[in-house]
Amino acid sequence: MLCIRVLAVTLLTCCLGAACGETQAGPAAIGDPPAFDQVRAFADLKHLVEEIGTRRIGTPGAEQTRAYLRKQLEPLGWKITENSFEAVPPEGAQRKGPVQGTNFIARRAGTEAGEIWLATHYDTYDKPGFLGANDGGSSTALLLEIGRQLGGKEPRTGMSLVLAFFDGEEKFPPIAWDDDTNSTFGSRHEALLLKSSETQSQVRAFLLFDLIGDKDLGLLIESSTDSRLRKIFETTAHALGDKRLFVGSQEIKDDHIHFRRLGIPVSNLIDFRYGPNNAFWHEVTDTMENVSAESIGRVGRLALPPLSKPSRRTNRTPRRPISFHRIQARARSAARCAAEARARAAHPPRRRCPVQLLAPRATRRARR
Ligand SMILES: [Zn+2]
Repeated sequence: MLCIRVLAVTLLTCCLGAACGETQAGPAAIGDPPAFDQVRAFADLKHLVEEIGTRRIGTPGAEQTRAYLRKQLEPLGWKITENSFEAVPPEGAQRKGPVQGTNFIARRAGTEAGEIWLATHYDTYDKPGFLGANDGGSSTALLLEIGRQLGGKEPRTGMSLVLAFFDGEEKFPPIAWDDDTNSTFGSRHEALLLKSSETQSQVRAFLLFDLIGDKDLGLLIESSTDSRLRKIFETTAHALGDKRLFVGSQEIKDDHIHFRRLGIPVSNLIDFRYGPNNAFWHEVTDTMENVSAESIGRVGRLALPPLSKPSRRTNRTPRRPISFHRIQARARSAARCAAEARARAAHPPRRRCPVQLLAPRATRRARR
C-alpha cells in the first residue's frame, strides 16, 4: 500500500497488555459466540512465513499459500473460487512479465440478499528474502481464523460472507506505485469482475485489513472509510476496552480503492507505523520477531462481533430493515459481553452474548 497524506494522527503508546489472550482448541461450539483464537492464527502465520516462505505473485509460495487456505477453509463449508489474472510488470521493473496472479475467494451463502466482503492481500513484496510476516502474512492469518469461526455448511442467517485473499497487491519494484498500472492487480481484477457482472450493488460492505500484526500495534482507520463502518469499529473497540487500538486516520492507497470506485462502502484498517519510523515496512526485518499473536487477536476480536450470528435471544424478525445505528449498538453490546466473559473466564456469564451481524434483517429460527 502507499501512504499519501496524513489527515489527523494521534500517536499513542500502545499498551498491548490490556486485551485478553483467550484461546480455544477447536471451532466454536454450536450456540457459543465465536472467539478469535489468536494462538491458532499465529500458528497459521508461522506456517506461511517459516514453512512456505516468500509468497510473491506467480511463484510456488503463492500457490502453496492458496493450497493451505483451501485445506483449512473448504472442509468448513466455504465455497472456493480461484480467479486468475495477468499482471504485467511495468517497463524497468525487476520482474519481466507477464505474471499470472490468482485471487482466492471463499464464499458462504446467507439467507438474505447482499454480501459482506472481508479482504486482505496474501502476496509478499517482491524483494529477495522478504518474508512479509506483517505485510501479507498477518492479515492472511487473521482472515483464515475468522473463516474458521464463521464457516458452516448451511446458509448463515443474514447476508452472505466473502473472504477475499487478493494476489498482486504489491507493486513491481523499483517502479513507483500506480493505482492502475503498478499495484493492486488482484483487487482491480476482482472489482472488474463485479462490475462486468453488474453485481457490485450486492456488496454492502468491503472491509480490508492490512499490516495488522505489528507487535506495537496502532491501527489507522483509512480516511476514505465509510463513516458508518468507522463508527461500528470504534464503538466495538471501545466496548472491548481496547481504547488504544486506533491511533488516527490517514489516506492510504490499498486494495479497497477499486471497490470504493464502484460505490461500495469500504473500510481499511491498517497499521502504517511498523518499527521505528516505519523502518520494518518492505524490509527483510518484516519477520516473526516483530509481530505478535496478541496484535492479530486484538483485530480478530474487533472484527468478529459485528459479523457473528445473532443469538436466539436477539433473533427476532424486526419490522423494518435494521439500521447501521442498530448494528453499531449490537456490536457494542456483543463486544462488551465478550470482554466481560474474558474478564471472568473462570466464571463465564450464564447469559448468551447478544451478538448481531452486519446484516439488515435477522430471521426467526425454529426452536429445536
Ligand atoms: Zn506491502
